[in-house]
Amino acid sequence: METTKTEMTSPPNFIRNIIIEDLKANKNEGRVHTRFPPEPNGYLHIGHAKSICLNFGLAAEFGGLCNLRFDDTNPIKEEEEYVNSIKEDVRWLGFDWEDREYYASDYFEQLHEYAVQLIKDGKAYVCDLSMDEIREYRGTLTKPGKDSPYRNRSVEENLNLFACMRAGEFEDGSRVLRAKIDMSASNLNMRDPVIYRILRATHHRTGDKWCIYPMYDFTHGQSDSIERITHSICTLEFEDHRPLYDWFIEQLNIFHPQQIEFARLNLSHTVMSKRKLLELVKSGVVTGWDDPRMPTISGMRRRGYPPESIRAFCERIGVAKRESVVDIAFLEHCVRKDLNERAPRVMGVLRPLRVVLDNYPETQTEELDALNHPTDGSKGTRKVPFSNVLYIEKEDFLEDPPKKYYRLAPGREVRLRYAYFIKCVDVVKDERTGEVMEIHCTYDPKTRGGDAPDGRKVKSTLHWVSVAHAIKAEVRLYDHLFVSPHPGAEKGGSDFKTDLNPHSLETLTSCYVEPGLKGALPGSRYQFERQGYFCVDLVDSSDNRLVFNQTVGLRDTWAKIQKSQVS
Ligand code: ATP
Ligand code: MG
Repeated sequence: METTKTEMTSPPNFIRNIIIEDLKANKNEGRVHTRFPPEPNGYLHIGHAKSICLNFGLAAEFGGLCNLRFDDTNPIKEEEEYVNSIKEDVRWLGFDWEDREYYASDYFEQLHEYAVQLIKDGKAYVCDLSMDEIREYRGTLTKPGKDSPYRNRSVEENLNLFACMRAGEFEDGSRVLRAKIDMSASNLNMRDPVIYRILRATHHRTGDKWCIYPMYDFTHGQSDSIERITHSICTLEFEDHRPLYDWFIEQLNIFHPQQIEFARLNLSHTVMSKRKLLELVKSGVVTGWDDPRMPTISGMRRRGYPPESIRAFCERIGVAKRESVVDIAFLEHCVRKDLNERAPRVMGVLRPLRVVLDNYPETQTEELDALNHPTDGSKGTRKVPFSNVLYIEKEDFLEDPPKKYYRLAPGREVRLRYAYFIKCVDVVKDERTGEVMEIHCTYDPKTRGGDAPDGRKVKSTLHWVSVAHAIKAEVRLYDHLFVSPHPGAEKGGSDFKTDLNPHSLETLTSCYVEPGLKGALPGSRYQFERQGYFCVDLVDSSDNRLVFNQTVGLRDTWAKIQKSQVS
C-alpha cells in the first residue's frame, strides 16, 4: 500500500491527531492557537526544544498561531537575562512569535480581578494559617484534609483582608488567599490551594508595584484563557492540575482552552531539570549555561549542533503519553546526519607528528586540489598547500604495528589524502624517553593526486597539513557530562553530581588546521576528515586564536545500537 511508507516514517504524534479531529468538528471555529510558556528562571534545554517544536510546529502545520508567553509569577527566581536567552534560543531554533510576546505579569491586574470575583462568589478566602499549618491541614493521599478555621469568613471580611494584603498591610507569608474547593478531594491539588501569597520582591517587569503575587497554578490556565489558546499543550506532571485549572475557568466563566498532556523528553547521560543545571553552573562544574557539554539550547548551539538537526530530532522522537528515556546517541545521530550533508570537509591534525619528506625539494610548495564534499559536487574544490615537512596524526604511526593496523609504520607505504604515496624510511626518537619525535619518509612523485600509475595499492589514507602553512588551533573534545545513563538514579536522584564524567572535556592546544580556515567565522562548522565534526567556538575564538569545539564524532553509535537490537 502506498501509505504504509509514510505511516512508518512519520513518528506518532497523538496531539496532531487530536487537532485534526478538532478541525474536522470545527471546534474553536477552526482556529489552532498554541503557546510556548517558559518560566524565565533558567536557560532552555533540549526538553524545552521539544515543546517549542511541538507548539510552533503544530500551529504552522495547521495555519494557526503560536505565542511566546513568559509565565513570570515568581519574582525571586526570575531574571531579565533568562528572558533574553529564551528569546534568542527560540529564534535560533527557527521559530517566530511575531508580535505575540506575552508575559503573565501583564495579566496581574486581570488575575487580581479574577481573584476578587472568586471571593465575591464565595469561592475564595483569606487564610491566616502558616505554610506549615496549611501543609499539615492538607492531609495526604490516604488521609482527608481538615478545613481551615478561616474557611468560613464572610465575603466582606475576605474582600477587606485581600485589599489589605494588596495594600501591603501584612507581613510576607502571614496570610494567603485560597480557593474554596474541597478539603476531602482525592486530588490534593483541589484541597483549597493557595492562589495568592504576600511577597515583597522586585519583579523583573512590574518592579515593586505588587506585594502579592498569584501562584503559578492560578496564573497558567487563566493566561491561556486570556490569550484564547485552543490547545494548551503541557507535560504529564500537569495532568493532576487540570481539574484545578478547569475549576478556575468554570467558576470564572471564561474561555476554556483544552489542556493536553504529553510525556516530557528525557535523555540518557543527561540531567534536564533547571534546578540541577543551575547547580552545575553555580558550582563551576561547567563554564556556564552555554558550556558545550550542557543539554541547553545555548550549549548545543555553541557545540555546533545545527538548529535543523534539533528540529529533526524533536520530530523523529514523536509525541506520546508514556514516559521514556531517549538514548543520547540518537540525538547525536541526528546531528551527524545533518552535518554529513552540510559540513565542508577540511583537514586538521589534532595530535601532530612531524613528517619530513627526504626527497621532496625543500623550497617547493604545491597547491593540491581537494574536494569540499565527497558526494556533493556543488560544494566545489579548494587548494591545499603541500611541502616537504608535514604533520600527520600521532596515532597514524606505530613503530611496532599490531596485526590489522594498516596505517603508517617503518617500511610501509600509505596515501596522503589528495597528495602522494609516502613510505616511512626512518624514525627519530627522544634518546631518553624513547618517544617518537619525527619520522622521515620518501614520497613517490608519480602518485600525485593519490593513485599509482603502476596500479600498486596502499591500505590506508591519512590526513595531513603542511607545517609551513598550517594554522595553529585549540580543539576541545567532549564526552558525555555524566558517566551514568541515568545520573543520580541509583541514589534516588539526590546526588546526581557523583555521576559526573571526569573526562567530559579534553583540551588540545597544539592542533594544526589547513590555512583555508584562517578567519573562519565563529559558529562555522566543518568535518575534519577522519576526525569528526567541529565548530568554531562562538565565545573564545578570535582572529588570532582559533578555537574549535568537537560537535560530534564520525562513528555512529546509534546505528550500532539499532543493529544490535534488530539482530
Ligand atoms: P524543568 O522541569 O526542566 O525545570 P520546567 O518545566 O519547570 O522545566 P518551564 O519553563 O515551565 O520549565 O517549561 C516551559 C515549557 O516547556 C512547559 O510547557 C513544559 O511543560 C515544557 N517542558 C519542560 N521540560 C520539558 C521536557 N523535558 N520535555 C518536553 N517539554 C518540556
Ligand atoms: Mg514549569
